[in-house]
Amino acid sequence: MTPPWRLVGQRLDTDKQPHELHLEVAAERGSLFPCPTCGKSCKAHDFAEFTWRHMNFFQHHCYITAKVPRTDCGEHGVLRINVPWARDGSRFTLLFEQAAMMLVREMPVLAAARIIEITDKRLWRIVEHYVGRAVERLDLSRVTAVGLDETAAKRGHSYVTVFIDLDRANKPVLFVTPGRGKETVARFRAFLVEHGGKPGRIAEVVCDMSGAFIAAVGETFENAAVTVDWFHVVQLFTKAVDEVRRAEAKQNKLPKALRWAVLKRADGRLTDAQVTALAELEASDLFTAIAWRIKEKLRWIRQANSVQAARWRLTNFQRHAAELLDPDPILDPVRKALATVQTHSKRILQRWTSSHSNARLEGLNGLFQAARARARGYRNIATFATIIYLIAAPLGDLVESI
Ligand SMILES: [Zn+2]
Repeated sequence: MTPPWRLVGQRLDTDKQPHELHLEVAAERGSLFPCPTCGKSCKAHDFAEFTWRHMNFFQHHCYITAKVPRTDCGEHGVLRINVPWARDGSRFTLLFEQAAMMLVREMPVLAAARIIEITDKRLWRIVEHYVGRAVERLDLSRVTAVGLDETAAKRGHSYVTVFIDLDRANKPVLFVTPGRGKETVARFRAFLVEHGGKPGRIAEVVCDMSGAFIAAVGETFENAAVTVDWFHVVQLFTKAVDEVRRAEAKQNKLPKALRWAVLKRADGRLTDAQVTALAELEASDLFTAIAWRIKEKLRWIRQANSVQAARWRLTNFQRHAAELLDPDPILDPVRKALATVQTHSKRILQRWTSSHSNARLEGLNGLFQAARARARGYRNIATFATIIYLIAAPLGDLVESI
């Protein structure tokens, strides 16, 4: 408490559960106050009483009450002053908000709200204020390589697209925006410019194989090479195998363990039942086996140690896959995946010459999952985006030192 403010009264209200400690703060009589616009010392024009929730005093809720003046500045007129213990418009003290922000960095917002005993809605408002301000301060002037990916805030709808700095291993998130596809790339460009970045300096963009992204990136960042990351190639074929398996399961009884086994890497961690199911699959003449063999050959391309070797392997892979493919329409998902890879082969091969690690976008999946858990119980696009920034953007100090 700094002059002219001082503590003038305190009272413990034991009628309330939990008990409430009320602290009364007042300014010295006749004090001058700075005009909130120009800082000039002014006499108080009039006073009104306000109350702020402060940090708990042991188990008791604590409130600060003060009569806050309006100044009457010759130039700026009658304005309510800002008190030093709370930000303008908040009904919580800065110390309370600082403690709240420390908690939400470590746990879901709902859990933090229960600990500090405010509604999660009010806590979200605090979080959105501080994260929003920190995002405004982000400096993108040195960004030259970005990756982007989309994810659903809720299963199957409410998409957000996330842009990351490929040169940052830690806290790489630069921009989170609602929607997917073309318009998100244009919004990122505007955000980049607002934050000191230069679109012409963007030399590489890593994304998936959606035509909308790739066309938009080409138009928006004229100097950028577009790289398709390997993770999306594998994802494409994994999905195709699963579609074939599902279609075939309707005609034939397939082992249950196969469902999970085909989604994993054959050399990854599998249960005994999954190993058996895969062995049977390899020996079988099921359509699913054909799709799976083609998918498994991707690893052989991935292991190429030069772009020349990768190009040769990719060509060989396409030819080999064409030989394996049965004309039955049940294998259409695999044919489609092969055609997509053919269309984007140049951008896929780009990863062998790119200086950026390819695993970065894959790592985003873990972040998305964590953000969904943190926003549980109050999840919409805005809260989901806020939490992604909070967990993974280089925001620095959220609450300035008090
Ligand atoms: Zn003034």
